[in-house]
Amino acid sequence: MRDFPVEVMERLLRRYDLQKETMLEYSSPSQLLIATTLSPQCTDKQVNKVTRELFKKYRGFADYAKADIRKLQKDLSGINYYKTKARHIKEAARIIESQFNGKLPSTIDELMILPGVGRKVANVVLTNGMGITEGIAIDTHCITVANRLRLTGTRNPAKIEADLMRRIPKKYWLHVSNLFVTLGRDACKASKKECWHCTLNDICPSSNFNPRKN
Ligand code: SF4
Repeated sequence: MRDFPVEVMERLLRRYDLQKETMLEYSSPSQLLIATTLSPQCTDKQVNKVTRELFKKYRGFADYAKADIRKLQKDLSGINYYKTKARHIKEAARIIESQFNGKLPSTIDELMILPGVGRKVANVVLTNGMGITEGIAIDTHCITVANRLRLTGTRNPAKIEADLMRRIPKKYWLHVSNLFVTLGRDACKASKKECWHCTLNDICPSSNFNPRKN
């Protein structure tokens, strides 16, 4: 058999359609930054409902930067914590306009200067929006899956990211997060793992269903 992390990646890539993985709707890296900034504590469905109208009204960072904060908050009012998120978006747009000539920065460190943008959001924007792989975005699904696969032994996102980057070849980094999130929603749920229909059930060290034995 191939090296375990490679086998995991190859099987997940075969199993899941990557086109369907990211549920947030966007048509540019800039829109993905806005959608991802809005997504904490919110469903993708909620975010998409709001951004469909928002993206028609605000065409670029200049529009967010000069927006009246009360109007922007009203436009985001279908989102949890919309007041804080509106302030973050307006301030992020102002920084992008003034420090980056209105162009979305393309490194993790630069993106993390922006309010509301942590390492996870920066990774999602770089990976899914720009096709740049500097790291691996870690969310709760990734924490669960990476631990059950014993690719890490911690719940600290920064340490998990370092473990995954050490063990998984770089050519897969672009897909790791999306694949683990999809697996986490499909079979490897935090509340109850459904190993019987998991594509990794015969090689996963935490599997409770091995088709070769059951
Ligand atoms: S076999 Fe079970 S524990 Fe392992 S990744 Fe699949 S669902 Fe998770």
